[in-house]
Amino acid sequence: MIYFVGAVFILCAGVGFYYVFPAFWLKYFATRLLKKKADKKNALFLTFDDGPGDALTLQLLDLLKTFSGTATFFVTGERAEACPEILRSIHKEQVVASHGYEHLHHLKVAPWRAVSDIKKGWSAIDRVLGESRGVYPFRPTYGRLNGISLVYLWLKKAPVIYWTLDSGDARKHLPDDDIFKKIVADPCQVILMHDYDRPVDYAFCKRFTLTLTERILNHAQAADIRTNINLF
Ligand SMILES: [Zn+2]
Repeated sequence: MIYFVGAVFILCAGVGFYYVFPAFWLKYFATRLLKKKADKKNALFLTFDDGPGDALTLQLLDLLKTFSGTATFFVTGERAEACPEILRSIHKEQVVASHGYEHLHHLKVAPWRAVSDIKKGWSAIDRVLGESRGVYPFRPTYGRLNGISLVYLWLKKAPVIYWTLDSGDARKHLPDDDIFKKIVADPCQVILMHDYDRPVDYAFCKRFTLTLTERILNHAQAADIRTNINLF
């Protein structure tokens, strides 16, 4: 009986560490810290995931330049290698961070594959930029980590960056004006958007991202909210 209870306890602890703990830490602890930071600095942080995209990223860079805004681009290693020149442009004007190499879901692949994907993503950025930093701030793909990948990132002292507001720009059914109203009501946020190339059917998502970015920057400027601070 005691062995059975022990086995159940170990199983529950393992599941808790691997699945529950990272989700809890990201959603509640890491998100609250980001919100506190945005409020304290009276700042709005724009973040773009899954790129670089061939066209959208360059349009966003132009827009950011017009407003003297700062954004963080969480790039995948695959896309960084596919668009090296664009990655170098981001690096020159904005902030480059990592979103893994293949955009894997860390709860759907083996833990060693998730860790290796993080390392591969960092190496790809270094290779394209000609740097040897080894470690870049990391945003979990699909907003998910497993216990082992989270501990690995901690050991590497890599900032793990979630978001406080999802713009919904990657969804098939785009949100209506509610998202902008939310930003107007509480503008100090870390906003999640996407700069990857959508298939032709999703061209409206691209327009949505560009238009929303411009509206956010306009509003922040009018409301005296800072948009030119580095997130790290
Ligand atoms: Zn992503």
